Amino acid sequence: MQFWPALETVLAMLERIRDENNHRPRASRHMLEKLDRSIPSKLDLLAPLRERVRVCIKCPHLASSRTQTVFGVGSPDAEIMFIGEAPGVDEDAQGEPFVGRAGQLLTKIIKAMGFAREDVYIANILKCRPDIPPGSFGNRVPTPLEMQTCRPYLVEQIEIIQPKVLVALGATAVEGLLGMHRAMRELRGRWYSYNGTPLMITYHPAYLLRNQAPSEKRKLWEDMLLVLERVGRPITEKQRNYFL
Ligand code: URA
Repeated sequence: MQFWPALETVLAMLERIRDENNHRPRASRHMLEKLDRSIPSKLDLLAPLRERVRVCIKCPHLASSRTQTVFGVGSPDAEIMFIGEAPGVDEDAQGEPFVGRAGQLLTKIIKAMGFAREDVYIANILKCRPDIPPGSFGNRVPTPLEMQTCRPYLVEQIEIIQPKVLVALGATAVEGLLGMHRAMRELRGRWYSYNGTPLMITYHPAYLLRNQAPSEKRKLWEDMLLVLERVGRPITEKQRNYFL
């Protein structure tokens, strides 16, 4: 049994015992402090996973071409978790997701939502940069096999962080997470569920860098307003009228 579901079961049992008894439950401060210290934090749980990713060689071609793996960044207690597709050249160099041009736009979106990058969590389906032939430029879309191989790491990250809302950025992230291959115009702007966690699908910021139409930018922003509503954040008038 996973740690968190097990803990929830124990807590539910304790609550039942409390409710079924007339006297107040008693526990010494010492015991409570001991119990508290024995519960690993989300950071504690992420650390060994990060290490497994760091040394991963499940895709030998990616393990040999990468500069480093790109695990994820942000608060382990984040309410919102953004999921992209894979590190690009900048992310491979810096070891952090979404630090290139698309990343700068994502950071701007996060700030317009009223958060700092450190308040949310950002990760990708793939932890390695997809390799490209020597001498060529740009990024390659991950293959279905690469995504299938790397996906369990992301699944564990989600299980540990337990965000209130997941945001999948672009069709490749959706394919990697849900195995669903459809056009973004059919997918975006609606709520889905990923193992019980609300999932919003929206455009990848790189798409908005290629397509500067205000109508497309506004669509992404409307998706983010839905996310803000879902996490119970008050939305200001300025935010309602905002265009990226
Ligand atoms: N695009 C992504 O999907 N992820 C990154 O980390 C950077 C660009």
